[in-house]
Amino acid sequence: MNKLYTIPFKIICVSIVFQLLAMSCCEQGSSNAQKTNEYYNSILKTNDIAKLNFFFARMPKGGDLHHHYSGAHYVETYLDWAKAKNLNINPTTLKVESSKKNPSITVDSLRANAVLYRSLLSLWSDLDFYNHISLQVPPDQQFFNTFGYFSGLCPGNYPEGFQVLKKRALTENVQYIETMLSGIKIPAKLSGFDSLLLKCQGAKSEKELDQVFTKMLQSIVEDSVKAAISFYTSTLDKAKKGIDDKNFCMRYQTYASRNSSPSSVFVSVYGAFRLCAANKYVVGINLVSGENGIVSMRDYWLHMQIFRYFRSRKEFANLPIALHAGELVMGMVRPEDLSYHINDAVTIAGASRIGHGIDIPYEKNAIGLLKYMANNKKAVEINLTSNEFILGVKGNQHPVRLYYDAGVPIVISTDDAGVSRNNLTQEYMLLASRYGFSYEQIKSFVFNSITYSFMPAKLKETNLELLKTNFNTFEKSIVEFQAAPVKTK
Ligand SMILES: [Zn+2]
Repeated sequence: MNKLYTIPFKIICVSIVFQLLAMSCCEQGSSNAQKTNEYYNSILKTNDIAKLNFFFARMPKGGDLHHHYSGAHYVETYLDWAKAKNLNINPTTLKVESSKKNPSITVDSLRANAVLYRSLLSLWSDLDFYNHISLQVPPDQQFFNTFGYFSGLCPGNYPEGFQVLKKRALTENVQYIETMLSGIKIPAKLSGFDSLLLKCQGAKSEKELDQVFTKMLQSIVEDSVKAAISFYTSTLDKAKKGIDDKNFCMRYQTYASRNSSPSSVFVSVYGAFRLCAANKYVVGINLVSGENGIVSMRDYWLHMQIFRYFRSRKEFANLPIALHAGELVMGMVRPEDLSYHINDAVTIAGASRIGHGIDIPYEKNAIGLLKYMANNKKAVEINLTSNEFILGVKGNQHPVRLYYDAGVPIVISTDDAGVSRNNLTQEYMLLASRYGFSYEQIKSFVFNSITYSFMPAKLKETNLELLKTNFNTFEKSIVEFQAAPVKTK
């Protein structure tokens, strides 16, 4: 054969072989997916919780998008940090103390006292709440109170804390965390505007409000904003060293606390927008703290207007926002207060994702809102354990199916794994065992956790590829496990 024809012929042969190999790998992959689906159906049918835990512990879970940094750490970790800093515990209040005087005791002494240690666990987390409920404050108060015990231990331990979260994530096959890290503190004296803001809120006057907002902005010293951004950035830069690699990455949200004074929320949200615009690792803005608080209920409209105001500025227009909205149930607030929070969060504040969204059945325009969320790809972050504890919503009281059936994108998240003493595996197990979603549906929720994350486009692409690879590996391992179960004598 003429040499000129030999080379192309060889190339064609090699190319065919590669194509056949690729087709065979692809077929193998889809056959593994099919067999994994069959295995999943078999364990779901019998609602075998141990097997579901086994399955979901191994299944790739993509990202955890509704994740509070301070609430994600377990009490045991906080006590390690207290001990490392030579801090003591007051045996009466069970709070951390720097004083070494009596009656404060060391962390080791606390751990040696089983009764006291157990009491601390029940104050610093949701553990044992239902074992002695008559002695406890209401569950939502219990939950929010926990943060007062350990939050002070967070800022000095970010590098260790990030590593703890990464290790736990990789162990349960989570490749991305988008954590609500902390607010940005800008010193500004704006409390003189509070009464004016409340007056505008009473009159529901957007125009007047915008004029007040503009005056407030003029009163903020630019150098103090720059200094706060610089401090936040350098703290984050040090803490995130060694976190991102080919199997895992973390991004950060900053936030304002919705139970602060109107002017404090304004300056915190402004700082959040500025930080998010300035630091590419801070990928989103949130509002935290109990939605049913007296101040947060009173100022909900005002808070949404603050977000609208900043989003109307060109430099902030495209910054991603996720808002806790509708973390409320009948009886917790007046019925009419269940009718507008989610709607205002997506249509006024411009949130791309909604955290919890529990009161959706009572929204006054629920049909239009669900359609809007579905058509505009506004995802809902589902936190089953948290909703059960704080709101008492579980089983068929939870609106996850309502959202799903309406076509709203769903992501599954932990909220506060340390306080709830759960992990993402548990959330998927609850989702499957309670609502019977198919393997394909659950897989789509996992992919949503990357698609609807706030990470930049290129990183998202890489993460979607990694997730596909991880699913192939997982499905292959399930098929192998099924084909050759361990034999006992
Ligand atoms: Zn939350």
